[in-house]
Amino acid sequence: MEKKNIDWSNIGFGYIKTDKRYVSNYKDGAWDNGAIIDDDMITMSECACVLQYAQTIFEGIKAYTTVDGRIVTFRPDLNAERFANSARRMEMPAFPEERFVDSIKKVVKANEAFVPPYGTGATLYVRPYMFGINPVIGVKPATEFQYRVFTTPVGPYFKGGAKPITIRVSDFDRAAPHGTGHIKAGLNYAMSLHAIVDAHNQGFDENMYLDPQTRTKVEETGGANFLFITKDNKVVTPKSDSILPSVTRRSLMYVAEHYLGLEVEQREVYLDEVKDFAECGLCGTAAVISPVGKIYDHGKEICFPSGMEEMGPITAKLRETLTGIQEGKIEAPEGWIVDIA
Ligand SMILES: *Cc1c(COP(=O)(O)O)cnc(C)c1O
Repeated sequence: MEKKNIDWSNIGFGYIKTDKRYVSNYKDGAWDNGAIIDDDMITMSECACVLQYAQTIFEGIKAYTTVDGRIVTFRPDLNAERFANSARRMEMPAFPEERFVDSIKKVVKANEAFVPPYGTGATLYVRPYMFGINPVIGVKPATEFQYRVFTTPVGPYFKGGAKPITIRVSDFDRAAPHGTGHIKAGLNYAMSLHAIVDAHNQGFDENMYLDPQTRTKVEETGGANFLFITKDNKVVTPKSDSILPSVTRRSLMYVAEHYLGLEVEQREVYLDEVKDFAECGLCGTAAVISPVGKIYDHGKEICFPSGMEEMGPITAKLRETLTGIQEGKIEAPEGWIVDIA
């Protein structure tokens, strides 16, 4: 397999079109067989449900090359399950979970030339998504849907080491109680765009969202879950019905407990107690863990002892262990690493 001529270590986090994508259509109550196609453009009615009422959901997963040259992906069954949950909450037909995993394998295999080689730090980002495609003007769910998966190579998230970031406590809310915070719907991101642009304009990297009901508890950022490390090395993650269940966060909690022998706890985390933690990180597929050095809360600064130069020791150990498992250097729990080619 001849790889594309791409400067893998220097590509950023933008869209690069690859050769193939997967498409399946839902009509008259059933999914068709699906196919790998060439056309990256989509034609739809001006009145398509997704354009009028944002009926769309997505997933994010990566395919990459292990140390022994296999092309694999990480826990796609959890993305399949989450995608089906997102669909049900959005009144969309669930895409069968086995077919979801199969579509990822097919589209990665078809774009094998775009899977970055081991050691470059780059990966092939895989984006499954689904949207209501038929015309809808009275407010109701679509009856026809399209499921697609495209891929795009992305560069190493941290070039030259992970530098801690600064985040602010946001005055905007991300997800209402009993709303859609726990599913991966485009609408959650639409409403976060103003908050993130505003945060960047004020010099912050990310927003920390609080629970909208009491504004006392930590939820998550726009696209990553929190992990905190206590001064006695316990790993704590916030519990709330409106947090998106991150595959990375769940995997890191498992690694903390079963590989590193650390105590782990999922519980409500109050903003008031954040100053007492030793380390803080953000977890998601893209970066695994981004260290947080400082949190700005309306004129007050919470500075973690790990500082602004490097990630804290437990965060670093967690990151190193999970990336070691992903890259095939450390034995993975059953079913975590799924071979593609
Ligand atoms: C996708 C996402 C995450 C990270 O989930 P992973 O499965 O680890 O990639 C966290 N928070 C939100 C809001 C997300 O949409």
